[in-house]
Amino acid sequence: MIRWLSLFILMFCSAAYGDQPSHLKVYISADMEGIGGVSSEKNQSSPGSADYEKFRRLMTQEVNAAISGAYDAGATEVTVSDSHWEGNNIDMELLDHRVRIVRGFPRPLGMMQGIDDTFDAVVFIGYHASEHQRNAILAHMEDGDKISEVRLNGVAVPEAGFNAAIAGDFGVPVVFLSGDSAASMEAIHLLGPIETAVVKSGSGFYSGTMLHPEEAQRMIREGVRRGVERRLQLKPYRLAHPVRLEITFKETFYAEIVSYFRNVERPTANSIVYTATDMTDASRFFNAIGYLHDE
Ligand SMILES: [Zn+2]
Repeated sequence: MIRWLSLFILMFCSAAYGDQPSHLKVYISADMEGIGGVSSEKNQSSPGSADYEKFRRLMTQEVNAAISGAYDAGATEVTVSDSHWEGNNIDMELLDHRVRIVRGFPRPLGMMQGIDDTFDAVVFIGYHASEHQRNAILAHMEDGDKISEVRLNGVAVPEAGFNAAIAGDFGVPVVFLSGDSAASMEAIHLLGPIETAVVKSGSGFYSGTMLHPEEAQRMIREGVRRGVERRLQLKPYRLAHPVRLEITFKETFYAEIVSYFRNVERPTANSIVYTATDMTDASRFFNAIGYLHDE
């Protein structure tokens, strides 16, 4: 009887509230080079630079648009990770109060710190393409001064691909990316038909044609809503284990000292291969070597 009664209550509740799930967690990872309006590291995206305060505000507004889109789609919990520079860019006072935020570096899962298998969808805001793309604004892979290319199981990946693979290990699909047209095309090529908002189109490394911020934010809110709604149609980016992490450095010195570690090979003078048990292991390794110095 009690069982029938609870079934009745459950049916009544789902009828009253439509198809809204009782629990829907969305993870938002935010970078800065792909924020609408940004085209200069020297003046806009480096903390302390001339216009940084303005552009961190625009980053916060794009993140807020994504948070609104997630809640429009029925999210019950949203986590944001501030994943640019030292991870302290988003203006805490302007941030939507419905979220928790991951801040500061270093951290073992890098731009995906806090992700786990309880999440339902991943959103990338302000992402940029990898270094080898043409007409890609401020394109690089993580530490662009040190690293020229990263491959996972033989496939060259942008930051979006590396981070999608971390989420994929936890069975969580990427549903949305905002950034320039190169970042968007690179992500769709690798991850499949995710939703994107192209907030600018690069005409070079430091130049492009941009949307007005309000229009960019409107597209992000709508795109994130559509992406979260389509989450069950989108596949997690799962890699076979163990994961072969191949890093090509700009200077041979880095490959040389990283090759001192166990499970590391050095197929060429300036590249290493680390055999990782899974993406968490690959990410821990990758984030640790980001702090190497050559002097
Ligand atoms: Zn980045």
